[in-house]
Amino acid sequence: MSINLPELPYGKDALAPFISANTLDFHYGKHHKTYVDNINKLIDSTDLAKKSLEEIIIIAAKDTSKAGIFNNAAQVWNHSFYWQCLKKAGGGAAKGAIAAKINSTWGSFDKFAEELKNAGITQFGSGWAWLVQDGNDLKITKTGNADTPLAHGQKPLLTIDIWEHAYYLDYQNRRADYLSAVIQNLINWDFVNANLT
Ligand code: MN
Repeated sequence: MSINLPELPYGKDALAPFISANTLDFHYGKHHKTYVDNINKLIDSTDLAKKSLEEIIIIAAKDTSKAGIFNNAAQVWNHSFYWQCLKKAGGGAAKGAIAAKINSTWGSFDKFAEELKNAGITQFGSGWAWLVQDGNDLKITKTGNADTPLAHGQKPLLTIDIWEHAYYLDYQNRRADYLSAVIQNLINWDFVNANLT
């Protein structure tokens, strides 16, 4: 079994002007694809070649000798998840069951949005901002580099990639503007609701 690069769930220009086709060309076509190519080379002819991507992440997270495998496997998973968290004409206030959970946890959607944006702004260097389910609770978290809530027993509901390659072509150093644009215009709440258990 090899790890696949999933198709983008929309056209390369679907997220413009908030995320340009140029960014998706590089981000999906180069960065994400490279992580897929790398993990397949790293697990080729090893016991991990028969495992699912999620199993590889959990195994490698517990073994410091497998840091390269963890980094590439987690980046494949994180990116495949991130693309699904976005859609054309998405964003704005949450809809469905997640909306009630967000309100009961943070008091209002605006407070939630502010904390999610703040998690992205305050992550030093590369990483990811997340909405996760931790037991029965919703939490906003951030992870560095390739790290993923899957390695910490949490269930990801939503992520925003905050590596510079996610926004630099469109926003240069203005990470906060990218985070606001994604939260207000691109979050796929149907996908977030589908992840709730
Ligand atoms: Mn990325």
